[in-house]
Amino acid sequence: MRPVVLCFSGLDPSGGAGLQADIEAIGQAGAHAAIACTAITIQSSQQVLGFEACAAELVQAQATTVLDDLPVKAIKSGMLGTTDNIAMLTELFAKQIIAKDTPFILDPVLVANSGGSLGDEQTLVAAFRQLLPYATIITPNTHELRALSGEQDLHLGAKKLCAEGCHAVLVKTSHDFDSGDIEQYLYVQGEMVHKSILPRLLGEFHGSGCSLASFIAGRLSVGDALIDAVKAADNWITQTLIAADAPHPEDKQAQLIPNRFVCFKR
Ligand code: PLP
Repeated sequence: MRPVVLCFSGLDPSGGAGLQADIEAIGQAGAHAAIACTAITIQSSQQVLGFEACAAELVQAQATTVLDDLPVKAIKSGMLGTTDNIAMLTELFAKQIIAKDTPFILDPVLVANSGGSLGDEQTLVAAFRQLLPYATIITPNTHELRALSGEQDLHLGAKKLCAEGCHAVLVKTSHDFDSGDIEQYLYVQGEMVHKSILPRLLGEFHGSGCSLASFIAGRLSVGDALIDAVKAADNWITQTLIAADAPHPEDKQAQLIPNRFVCFKR
């Protein structure tokens, strides 16, 4: 069968972010997505109204059932919601219940693009630091990078996360809204190995971070080198954003939903 990416992610009923974004992105990358659901959120395409996290035992049982059953070739985590869930995932790596050398794409979700809370930021940050050494690549937005590293400067922040054991850090300035074009840097073991400038598209997008991280996970699971997976994901995400759906076309501030079924050119 196609390689499997096991995702730890939450349900967003609007279908823009979370586990639906993961399933669609991973399918487009040529892999099969399996999901251990970490939380059920209550949200529209525009705002988070609340969420209930799943108990860590329940998430673990979902994950180990998939690990026993399917050829899992990569792990992706998104919203984990509680420190218990982060600690549980850390333990799956530490005890090698997830096979050593399985690529792990860590999207350290703290808040939604709309600004809505997806967990208690301070305690999540502390718990994420325990998980960092297992990450092949971490894909924080600028807010998450600053919160995790304690550095305002994005380059210093990326280097610091590498020094804390994370193999690679992908930094994108898309959340720094006054920063003109979007710059992206890929740091591997503390060194910048790739830099790109992407045009800033009009609008804000709901679920773009989840989609990008999951597409990278999908490409790593099919055997791409890290830098190739990142470049492929950049190309794909840009096309999904250009083709994004506008749930509220009359409101220019409203968030758009990436069209992940866009026919894209590799
Ligand atoms: N995971 C879930 C379940 C979410 O609801 C959200 C945001 O709403 C995210 C992750 C993060 O989304 P984004 O890709 O917009 O950062």
